Amino acid sequence: MSSLQNPIQFLPGIGPKRAEILAQDINLVTVEDLLLYFPYKHVDRSRFYKIKELTPDLPYLQIIGKIVAFNTVGEGIKKRLTATFVDETGMIELVWFQGIKWVQQTYTLNTPYIIFGKPNYFNGKYSIPHPEIEPYKPDEHNQKAALQPYYNTSERMKKHLLTSRWMHKIITYCLEKYLHEVEETLPSYLINRLNLLPLREALMNIHLPRSIENLKKAEYRLKFEELFAIQLNLAYQKSIRKKNPSNLICKQVGNLFHSFYQQNLPFELTNAQKRVIKEIRKDLGSGHQMNRLLQGDVGSGKTLVALMTMLIALDNGFQTCLMAPTEILANQHYVSFVSLLKNLPINIELLTGSTKKSVREKLMENLVNGSTHILIGTHALIEDAVQFKNLGLVIIDEQHRFGVAQRAKLWQKNDSPPHVLVMTATPIPRTLAMTLYGDLDVSVIDELPPGRKPIITKHFTDALRDKVFELIKREIAIGRQVYIIYPLIKESEKLDLKALEKGYHQLQKVFPPPTYSLCMIHGQMKPSEKDEAMKGFIERKYQILVSTTVIEVGVNVPNASVMVIENAERFGLSQLHQLRGRVGRGAEQSYCILLTSHKLSEDALKRMQIMEASNDGFVIAEADLKLRGPGDIEGTQQSGMPFELHIANLAKDQQILMLAKDIATEIIEKDPHLSLPENLTLKELSTKNKKEIINWSRIS
Ligand code: ADP
Ligand code: MG
Repeated sequence: MSSLQNPIQFLPGIGPKRAEILAQDINLVTVEDLLLYFPYKHVDRSRFYKIKELTPDLPYLQIIGKIVAFNTVGEGIKKRLTATFVDETGMIELVWFQGIKWVQQTYTLNTPYIIFGKPNYFNGKYSIPHPEIEPYKPDEHNQKAALQPYYNTSERMKKHLLTSRWMHKIITYCLEKYLHEVEETLPSYLINRLNLLPLREALMNIHLPRSIENLKKAEYRLKFEELFAIQLNLAYQKSIRKKNPSNLICKQVGNLFHSFYQQNLPFELTNAQKRVIKEIRKDLGSGHQMNRLLQGDVGSGKTLVALMTMLIALDNGFQTCLMAPTEILANQHYVSFVSLLKNLPINIELLTGSTKKSVREKLMENLVNGSTHILIGTHALIEDAVQFKNLGLVIIDEQHRFGVAQRAKLWQKNDSPPHVLVMTATPIPRTLAMTLYGDLDVSVIDELPPGRKPIITKHFTDALRDKVFELIKREIAIGRQVYIIYPLIKESEKLDLKALEKGYHQLQKVFPPPTYSLCMIHGQMKPSEKDEAMKGFIERKYQILVSTTVIEVGVNVPNASVMVIENAERFGLSQLHQLRGRVGRGAEQSYCILLTSHKLSEDALKRMQIMEASNDGFVIAEADLKLRGPGDIEGTQQSGMPFELHIANLAKDQQILMLAKDIATEIIEKDPHLSLPENLTLKELSTKNKKEIINWSRIS
């Protein structure tokens, strides 16, 4: 085994405790992981800028100068601290929205400092928000690395002194010691043709760039490789699909579909639902395998389309399954399918991580002998033990929560790959979707069921909490229910859990029994406990559900009319939109309240404003993509993306993406199974999904 697979625990200065933190917080386990942990930005320390040299659009840079005055401006949420910073050529303003007191105490007037930051140009003036500041010591600063890499770190890492600088040191050590063991992942003909840096050089230059030019080349090579691996996989799957005629033809729409339509359908389908079902019917009867993405905003009624698609497959003698990203959602689908399909001769079963062993065994038997028609579940469905008699259709709900490898695993459950329908409410802009998903045809539900009122979204600061409580009380008084969501970015973060529990106790005081009843759900609870709380909420035993983001996707309780999101600044736009989508599912007026602290970063404030301004998932997705520069994904959150990208940026690297797609298609056309000797490394690359699979700890 290569030493690249050595656990980092044994590197100098790490040890078991720090290794555990690194594994939990940023997913680093081996030496290789460390080498592939790329910086999110580099600061140009090769030279100092003079203030008069500043132009709009400069990157992070450094200036030597002095603070000559502090000034506090504004009140309340708008309060900020500015400092006048001068050098011999001019003046700029430094701005802080947070930590005002600390800044004033720490930095002294008329002392030489180096400031780092990205200048903003507004109204003819330059300013730098939240600059980093260091005392200026002439001898030291002359010898610093020209381009300094900055690595993402969690709060907990910082507490244990695992800072960006520390990361840089340990990675530098690994480069010296292990880089020679890194093997090239791209064939040499590609490296030559595209004029790419070899992998070793790219790794060297991303962590220790010798010049901006080298850094750019390294970034280009690594971004290309990341996107190319994904495209290669897609091109491969597409070529198989297009070559093989499918014997899973659904020729007819039969009894089950018709009986459901005439007797069980609880409401008139929307026109968009009808159109999409037609598109799907055509696919299923075409003689080729269907591979379709169904996009529809939250609450647009995708579940019903899934159900009716399943009926077509059942009418033609096939089994079908539906996979959802959380147990809560799988349970909900199961319950609603059972009720929607009552009186029809269809056997539906549920399989999740908490299905009992005895039940499970029986279930496996029924799948193999064909007496179970519909299987609903979580990622438990992809386990090898789950085998069907003749699986004809696979549906994946909230597909952005699953990785490519997981999708592919479901395909393999039948000799001939089953038809696939993947559904998502997190639209990424059209052109991008086509390139990214490559192999998928796309259907869109662009219409909400009739009678929905747009959700009213309001941003409040903590100080106005009482107003929010009043709203909650008013809504409960007229029989509605309420969600209150706390952020829990990683379930392992105990601090977050504490905040949730503390919040829950406070809420119990504001909403005391017997008038009110509350329940709580978080990822650390047993599935049965989560289930009990969710059921109670659905049955209106509880009026307020206090929860982490475990209920983020899919959950459907139409009577709920208020969604309160605590610390909303900690969520990304697509997550906020998903959470908001839990209300507004009935005919009642619904509300989404975004609670944040007084002091907000500019970006966070923008996110709140976008949420207030729009209910449209597409608009939000576009804005999201624009807002998220590579430096902004501090917590490495890229929700809404089907893969976790580590270096490429979908908004900025579309050209590399197109190139990767073209080359992948070309290679697969020539060598469909990547069996030519020169493509040996590519075979490995296309199946190396370790990095793409989404981190489950974040979800259930
Ligand atoms: P999503 O697209 O977010 O998965 P769901 O499928 O959960 O949305 O549907 C949201 C709600 O809308 C559900 O309560 C569902 O019963 C209801 N619904 C779906 N289709 C229609 C329709 N054609 N008319 C009225 N209500 C509908
Ligand atoms: Mg749904």
